[in-house]
Amino acid sequence: MQSVFSRSLNIARRSVSMRQIASIAALPDTHQMLQNTCRDFANAELSPNAAKFDRDHLYPAQQIKQMGELGVMAVAIPEELGGTGLDYLAYAIAMEEISRGCASAGVIMSVNNSLYLGPLMGFGNAAQKDAFITPYTTGERVGCFALSEPGNGSDAGAASTIATEKGDHYVLNGTKAWITNGFEAEAAVVFATTNKQLKHKGISAFIVPKGLKGFSLGKKEDKLGIRGSSTCQLIFEDCEIPKDSMLGEPGFGFKIAMQTLDAGRIGIAGQALGIGQAALELAVDYAQKRQAFGKPISKLQSIQQKIADMSLAMESARLLTWRAAWLKDNKLAYTKEAAMAKLAASEAATLCSHQCIQILGGMGYVSDMPAERHYRDARITEIYEGTSEIQRLVIAGSILKEYAS
Ligand SMILES: Cc1cc2nc3c(=O)[nH]c(=O)nc-3n(C[C@H](O)[C@H](O)[C@H](O)COP(=O)(O)OP(=O)(O)OC[C@H]3O[C@@H](n4cnc5c(N)ncnc54)[C@H](O)[C@@H]3O)c2cc1C
Repeated sequence: MQSVFSRSLNIARRSVSMRQIASIAALPDTHQMLQNTCRDFANAELSPNAAKFDRDHLYPAQQIKQMGELGVMAVAIPEELGGTGLDYLAYAIAMEEISRGCASAGVIMSVNNSLYLGPLMGFGNAAQKDAFITPYTTGERVGCFALSEPGNGSDAGAASTIATEKGDHYVLNGTKAWITNGFEAEAAVVFATTNKQLKHKGISAFIVPKGLKGFSLGKKEDKLGIRGSSTCQLIFEDCEIPKDSMLGEPGFGFKIAMQTLDAGRIGIAGQALGIGQAALELAVDYAQKRQAFGKPISKLQSIQQKIADMSLAMESARLLTWRAAWLKDNKLAYTKEAAMAKLAASEAATLCSHQCIQILGGMGYVSDMPAERHYRDARITEIYEGTSEIQRLVIAGSILKEYAS
């Protein structure tokens, strides 16, 4: 089924040049149309409801279905598999616009696109793609990605979940922690050790549908932000999965996880940009309306400096994000650039949401205005898909290698 977006698209899809990336105005028509479509949708359906999703910890089911109709739940998946058939730049742009309206909708979209569909697209066989990609492109169903465990997050290679081979199946035992979309997901990409001796090279990836005996959920986490998305444990107790549930070869799991996270970081950078942009726009609007000492506070230099710093952080992070996406779309190395994009965008979101509260004064501190939600939502972008410390390790590791050669 074609998405609303791809159906309404009569413009030839053109590839993007790096020069175009340097100018927002010169984005190709396809990407501008997607940007406008997502912005209009976010203004109409997400922004007005985001406070309710946050307050009530409500999964935005109806909006996620609408996002499926727009084509943003499977942006870079080929059309023949039910996706929208666009590129990663398009995905990053859509992520920003959706997250500008609602950061929870943003993370639900990002996990489905890059963490769930991404590894299936890259490593799934034809049968796995048919069963576990196409039904997950419409927003009716979402998937999740289960790498972290209670005992290890940054140190993902230390996974203790075990998959033991027994005849024509594997038996899964272990607990996965912090799994976004865990409650709603109908299937999970799960990482488990098939050969303990090989350490991280003994980890394999599996596609596991919900409803199997021995597969249950832990409690829903009560989070600081992105409260419209669910986060919970996935618990496997003697859970039998067929042998053909494996993605790729035995021992490919760590590689699949790392490649998936490289791409996922571009999406989280997009999410952070959306949160930061919402905070910047709110701050600018408020500064022009709020009067102090007989004039709008926007006339005060200290407020202008904040606005300048916020805009600078946003623009730099956006260019880094689009560059990382462009490199991926052009099949060039992008690990370092994706880490830079995620680091810059998450720090920009933190800065903008922090300064937005400062510019709004008391009104920034209460839930009548969205500033405090942006502040809470921004925080997670510095933690998941690799903390800021891990991004710095990735960047420094690449630079040291580049300079050594
Ligand atoms: C809301 C939410 C949603 C999430 N969604 C998912 C999901 O869908 N799937 C999934 O698999 N995981 C998910 N996670 C897990 C997330 O990826 C981890 O929380 C994150 O990777 C950090 O791991 P940790 O919490 O174990 O912290 P730790 O790894 O224990 O880190 C603690 C601190 O030590 C620092 N640190 C650790 N190692 C180093 C190092 N080598 N050098 C310098 N500093 C270091 C970290 O930066 C951090 O500051 C989610 C987490 C949250 C909170």
